[in-house]
Amino acid sequence: MSKLTVRQARQESAIGQSATLQGWVRTRRDSKGGFSFIELNDGSCLANIQVVADADLPNYEAEIKHLTAGCSITVHGDVKESGGRGQATELQATELIVHGWADPDAYPLQKKRHSLEKLREWAHLRPRTNTIGAVMRVRNQVCRSIHDFFQDEGFLYVHTPVITASDCEGAGEMFRVTTIDPANPPRDEQGAVDYAQDFFDRPSYLTVSGQLEGEIYATALGKIYTFGPTFRAENSNTSRHLAEFWMVEPEAAFYELEDNMDLAERFLKRIVGDVLANCDEDMQFFHQRIDDTVLAAMQAVAEQPFERLSYTDAIKLLEESGEKFEFPIAWGADLQAEHERYLTEKKIKAPVILHDYPRSIKPFYMRVNDDDKTVRAMDVLVPRVGEIIGGSQREERLDVLEGRMAEQGLDPQDYWWYLDLRRFGTVPHAGFGLGLERMVQFVTGMANIRDVIPFPRTPGNAEF
Ligand code: ATP
Ligand code: MN
Repeated sequence: MSKLTVRQARQESAIGQSATLQGWVRTRRDSKGGFSFIELNDGSCLANIQVVADADLPNYEAEIKHLTAGCSITVHGDVKESGGRGQATELQATELIVHGWADPDAYPLQKKRHSLEKLREWAHLRPRTNTIGAVMRVRNQVCRSIHDFFQDEGFLYVHTPVITASDCEGAGEMFRVTTIDPANPPRDEQGAVDYAQDFFDRPSYLTVSGQLEGEIYATALGKIYTFGPTFRAENSNTSRHLAEFWMVEPEAAFYELEDNMDLAERFLKRIVGDVLANCDEDMQFFHQRIDDTVLAAMQAVAEQPFERLSYTDAIKLLEESGEKFEFPIAWGADLQAEHERYLTEKKIKAPVILHDYPRSIKPFYMRVNDDDKTVRAMDVLVPRVGEIIGGSQREERLDVLEGRMAEQGLDPQDYWWYLDLRRFGTVPHAGFGLGLERMVQFVTGMANIRDVIPFPRTPGNAEF
């Protein structure tokens, strides 16, 4: 007897097969005719399969009649055509083995629907719910598409370090990595903690971005991408920020800003197209149960060209909008989420790429334009989520880069290796970062970023 997943056994083509299915009971219903219906889920798809267990099974009275939500079982049986609505097949059990019981008085995931907030307290059980199961299947598809896309485009997957001494200036607050005993730290002559005596002989942190290291590999191997965990110690309790998240960062030599924007657009279109093609059942669920605008928003990404708008033109639109913003807007100010959302949700009603931001609000490594006032930065904004990608063409001119570092009070000594990339065979290059969780939020319609990662890390939350 071959093992089938619920997903496989629900296909009409499985009818007539003898099969073994394994998973967790969602519900049990007893019929007067002397048999029980068990809804079995194994996570392979959103839907359950209906198991029909007759009273003449040897453990019917002792076990099967006592199955409740959460019990784990193995069922050997025959896949049959089902008379029930919404299902092509069902499994007629010939043997049913119970692995583990789940006391209905203690098991939290009973029929009652819990709020997503409540489910966060049960991070160890919530993957057994329809919503989190669907999110994780879609998240898996998004990750697969990320790799497929870059591999198809000839990008090399490079692993940049999680522990780093460089701080990718401006990207965010960092978590320190240390083995120093906080109760008894080594001191320097001034009495400050002496990190020269720490594990790495210098202050070290969890990475906020793999970009600087990505540039090293792009300026040797051409087109690369990194995809890994990223950490930011910002104390921002928003629905779009995590302290630990996953970022995809392509970096390409001989790319200018337009190439970078084109790449970002192709990239998002590919992910969305793959999710629409491969996650239909889960996407219908999100559309019906979470947010009925997700499918239309995804169609728009898949089909419409992204609007491209300079920062300067965006400021004009915001000034003319007549909207009352909490943060007033003027040329030179950084855009707040409310401004970004106005542009993408109300004004343009589609994804938009903003580019060429004021140099004063952007990090030193972004390429300065001929106007001397703006840099070759780009942000991709999408409805509901706001900024999903941030990137730029990098400054490849050594003298300009050094000038920018001085402007921002950075010590060139700390970046000697980064400057070497401009000293030896410098080339125009560009890249961007996509936050995986923001992308999953966009495609699923999930309002809170804590619900699209298995174990969210936010201020005060790291239990499991
Ligand atoms: P924001 O302004 O939204 O805080 P940012 O400008 O600091 O983001 P970047 O440094 O440009 O972010 O990082 C690139 C991408 O990484 C962002 O566009 C976003 O998708 C994602 N990202 C950044 N910070 C976080 C975070 N704390 N949690 C989840 N995703 C994030
Ligand atoms: Mn950004």
